[in-house]
Amino acid sequence: MPNCPKCDKPVYFAERKTSCGKDWHSACLRCERCSKTLTPGGHAVREDKPYCHTPCYATLFGPSGFGAGGNSYKYDKK
Ligand SMILES: [Zn+2]
Ligand SMILES: [Zn+2]
Repeated sequence: MPNCPKCDKPVYFAERKTSCGKDWHSACLRCERCSKTLTPGGHAVREDKPYCHTPCYATLFGPSGFGAGGNSYKYDKK
């Protein structure tokens, strides 16, 4: 039986929601930041925690590598 990546407890078939290759409790498939209920396949996952794409994931982690290091967030295109 798979364990829910969020609460680390077994997920029974009746309460299972499969999303992003993991099995979650339907109650656990909520955004870690804003607690919004998420749609399977329609959200982001970071370190086994689900987030909605916007605004939460974008706010916390930025779009595709944005803010990955340093204080500067602008690249000089030369
Ligand atoms: Zn769970
Ligand atoms: Zn959210």
